[in-house]
Amino acid sequence: MRRMYSFPRGGFVFEDPYAPRGVSIETAFLPVFSVIPLIQHTGNKAYPIVFIGEYVKEGMLIGRGQGPGSANIHATVPGKVVRMASWKTVDGVVNDALVVRMEGSFERLGKKETVYPWSDLPPSELQRLIAEHGIVELDAGGRPIADILSALNMEKDAITLVIRCVFDDPWLVADRAICEERIKEIVEGGFITAKACDAKNIVYAVSYTEKRLIDNIQKTVKALQNLHSLPTPIAVVPVGNRYPQHNQRELELVLREYEKKENAVLGCLFMTSPSTLSAIHDAVKLHKPILDRYIAVGGSAVKTSKVFKARIGTRLRDLFEQCGGLIAPPARIVIGSPLAGRAVLDLDEPVTKTSYAALALLEKDVGGTVSRSCIDCGECRAICPTGLDPELLYKQLTCGAERPSVLECHGCGCCEVVCPSRLPVSTTIYTAAKESHI
Ligand code: SF4
Ligand code: SF4
Repeated sequence: MRRMYSFPRGGFVFEDPYAPRGVSIETAFLPVFSVIPLIQHTGNKAYPIVFIGEYVKEGMLIGRGQGPGSANIHATVPGKVVRMASWKTVDGVVNDALVVRMEGSFERLGKKETVYPWSDLPPSELQRLIAEHGIVELDAGGRPIADILSALNMEKDAITLVIRCVFDDPWLVADRAICEERIKEIVEGGFITAKACDAKNIVYAVSYTEKRLIDNIQKTVKALQNLHSLPTPIAVVPVGNRYPQHNQRELELVLREYEKKENAVLGCLFMTSPSTLSAIHDAVKLHKPILDRYIAVGGSAVKTSKVFKARIGTRLRDLFEQCGGLIAPPARIVIGSPLAGRAVLDLDEPVTKTSYAALALLEKDVGGTVSRSCIDCGECRAICPTGLDPELLYKQLTCGAERPSVLECHGCGCCEVVCPSRLPVSTTIYTAAKESHI
């Protein structure tokens, strides 16, 4: 049996009876009105280049990225741009979106795709195609991949591309499903990305329980290496399933351990997800922007949880309806994981490039609502993977005393989930950590 690598302290086995089970994917209905936000990335909003009343084609550029952190935005359905919608997020950021009413025929949907060869393209051309098609990190906040590749060009150490197939959170089921459906595209996307950033190694970090996936990755890598004579060394590293193993910090800890034990040289780690590699594959081989998102939809307020392939711009309301509807008005709507996701204010919020999960929760499942005082049980200290004292930090931050250093907090949410007093521990600490980073 091969060694399994796991981070040293804290965390927990995360199970959620309201997450979708299995990996079968349902195609979401095409939305009559698509709400396509001009911010689906970390930087400035994209500049709209179409007018209200103009007709757009499926996959057409409709918003141009403006500077670092910003990415191009494309129409995901054909139709008429009927208006600009604006709304405020819970953080107070104003987001604008182009609303497209579906009309006319699809350029790509149901058509045979043209395939473009990539193995003779130089890294600069691969980077250009990735930037042109607006590819961002799909599971981690939306930083444009082209920005990451430019930063890696300056790197002096050898680069290792790390592909995170780590399913420590049941709400990552959409990424698990895409591994099932598009493993060939993911593996080839890995080779393309390795070439674009001149990575010397590719490492698949895979949950050790996913034996069939490990086998599939190994077989697909071998087949593609034989077909294209690709030399990049590949390793598959089995890792633990304890949450937050998927996090950058915890994954780096286990890969450094692997490096020591196996006498490997990994150097600088560029971590990315299967869904991002699948999008990179489509941008380079099919000249296709991100039109769909695999997304897990469910939660205690939803009748049946499902995994969808949904068009970017589909409203959450429509996906919940396709799940059989809501059983009661939700107390909270969350995009992303219930532990570390972002709350949204209404059901008209659309699916974006970075939406991997969407939940509607009943009051009983909403943590972090101050209801009692801290009982000094120490649960939050025991579970914090970074070794912080969340109880102390929470008290210091809420009592207005001297501001403690909270930079180590990466917002995993573990301390909040175990708090018997349902205090907003991680919400408070991580908000302060983000403010300290600004
Ligand atoms: S203090 Fe931060 S890092 Fe520690 S458990 Fe809480 S959210 Fe996670
Ligand atoms: S888990 Fe909650 S109640 Fe227990 S020590 Fe931490 S903050 Fe206090």
